[in-house]
Amino acid sequence: MRNAIPLLATVFGAAALAAASVASVASAQTLPYQSTDPKMKAAVDDLYAANRILAFEGVITGAGHVSVRSPTNPAHMLISRSLAPPQVVPADIQELDIATCQNVNPKGPLLYQERHIHCSIYKARPDINAVVHSHTPNIIVFSVIKTPLRAMMNGGRILGNGAPIHDMADVKTKTANLIASIDAGDSLAAAMGKGNVVLLRGHGSAVGAADLHTAVGNVMGIEENATLQLRAMATGSPITWSKPTDFVQTEEITRVLAGEDRNWNAEKFRAGVK
Ligand SMILES: [Zn+2]
Repeated sequence: MRNAIPLLATVFGAAALAAASVASVASAQTLPYQSTDPKMKAAVDDLYAANRILAFEGVITGAGHVSVRSPTNPAHMLISRSLAPPQVVPADIQELDIATCQNVNPKGPLLYQERHIHCSIYKARPDINAVVHSHTPNIIVFSVIKTPLRAMMNGGRILGNGAPIHDMADVKTKTANLIASIDAGDSLAAAMGKGNVVLLRGHGSAVGAADLHTAVGNVMGIEENATLQLRAMATGSPITWSKPTDFVQTEEITRVLAGEDRNWNAEKFRAGVK
C-alpha cells in the first residue's frame, strides 16, 4: 500500500497534464465561429444560412456540401464537419488548408470525404470563393446521356452551350465514384476548366462562384434548367436555346441586384433563417 499513493498521484498527474494539453490545443485553435473578426463572423453566418437554404430547398440533404473561401486567408476555406446539412450550426464550421485539404486544427473532427471537390476548385481557380456540391436528380440524368445540359432559361446561364462532364473512370487514384482524393479533386477542377459548373458522371454536380449567394442561386438554377430541358425535349419540338444577349447585364440591373440581394433574402426567409 505504501506504493499506492505515488502511483495514484502519477496517474492523476498524467490525466491532469493530458487535460491541460487538450485545453491548450483547443484555445490555440479557435473555431471560425469563435473569431472576433467581423468578416469571419459574417462568413460563418452566411455559410450556416447556405446550409439551411440548400437543405430546405432539397438541394443538399443527407449528402452534399457547401463551402466558402476564408475571408481572412485565401489559402484556407470554411466548410462544416462531416454532418448532414440540415443539422449544421455555426459551431460545426471548420477551417481547412486548401493545399492539404486538412483541418488547420489537428485535433479537429471527421471531415467530408468529398471535401477535395472544394479544395481543388479553390486551388485551380483564384476567382472562385464559394463552391456547392450536390446530387440533384435531373442534373444526374444529364451526366449520363449524350445530350448536353445547356442554358435554355435565365437561371441556367452558367451552363452556356453545354456543361462539361467529369468521369471518375479517368482518374488514376480509385476512390469508387467519389471525389475522395487530391488526385480526383484536381481532375474534377481541370474538367471544370474556366466555367463555373461541372457535372459528375452518375453522381451530381459542382458549382463555383465569386460569392456564396451567387453559388447558391446558380445550383438551384441549373437543376431547374435540367428539369425544364427534359420537359422541353419530351415535346419533340426543336428548342430555342438561351442566347448570349440574354445575359448582358446592364449597369442598372447590376446595381439593383447587388443592392437588394433579393433572391438570397427571399431564400433565407423561406428557410426560416434570421
Ligand atoms: Zn457527392
